[in-house]
Amino acid sequence: MAKKTYACKDIGMQCGFTAEAANEQDLMQKIAKHAKEAHGMNRIDDATMKKVKAAIKGA
Ligand SMILES: [Zn+2]
Repeated sequence: MAKKTYACKDIGMQCGFTAEAANEQDLMQKIAKHAKEAHGMNRIDDATMKKVKAAIKGA
């Protein structure tokens, strides 16, 4: 099964967090949880969301 992966450092964060999931929806949930807990982002703004989506790798 194809996997989607994300790494915080790919959007310029000084952070070693990486996540992987089977689809973008699950991945975004993990990223949102991490962003809230580690970066204090209660909500990911549109500019950051664009960067996150551009940084997601995988088919
Ligand atoms: Zn992070």
